[in-house]
Amino acid sequence: MRILLIEDDLSLAQGIATALRHAGYAVDHTPSGSKGVALVAASEPDLLVLDLGLPDMDGLAVLKALRSQQRKIPVLILTARDDLPSKVQGLDAGADDYLTKPFAVDELLARLRALERRGSVGGSAEVVIGDVTINLATHSVLHGGNPVRLSRREFSLLRALAERPGHILSREQLEDKLYSWGESVASNTVDVHIHNLRKKISPDLIQNIRGVGYKLGPTR
Ligand code: CA
Repeated sequence: MRILLIEDDLSLAQGIATALRHAGYAVDHTPSGSKGVALVAASEPDLLVLDLGLPDMDGLAVLKALRSQQRKIPVLILTARDDLPSKVQGLDAGADDYLTKPFAVDELLARLRALERRGSVGGSAEVVIGDVTINLATHSVLHGGNPVRLSRREFSLLRALAERPGHILSREQLEDKLYSWGESVASNTVDVHIHNLRKKISPDLIQNIRGVGYKLGPTR
């Protein structure tokens, strides 16, 4: 799950990005509204956290630009504008949620999870593959009814595959879900996570389609 954060308060942005990464998201950040619009098109993030007061372009204009381009990305507005008309304006412009500063990180994370649930796999939070149950909302995995402990990135990788059941994702697409820009990624990182997931859950959980990528497969 990849989040784009458009926020011009750099220390706040850094705090939010750190919290989101701890929660298992890949986070990209820009302080610029116009860059943000371009980035949504270029890198297709899964969620957008959008400040309204931006130096180059108001957040509302960012939102309107995205919606006029038919971008359906879920958008959470995160702003100091806490008056009712601003909230109504933001939601009417196409925001999916609106959170005012100051906010608690736990509330931001809960609201993002709610947006994920609405946006992913037909609104269902659970993906079942054979005897493996992946709960996208609670970040839990059961194998034969027993909980499986996964690292943040193992879960992010599994989630990326579970969100598009039956689809093949390339190694690059999986890396995109796991890592933010500028993070150095060893070339075999995805393989290492997949190796661990197979070992922890089931050897045939993830199928390698040679030369194309990976998909979730049936498990024994
Ligand atoms: Ca601002």
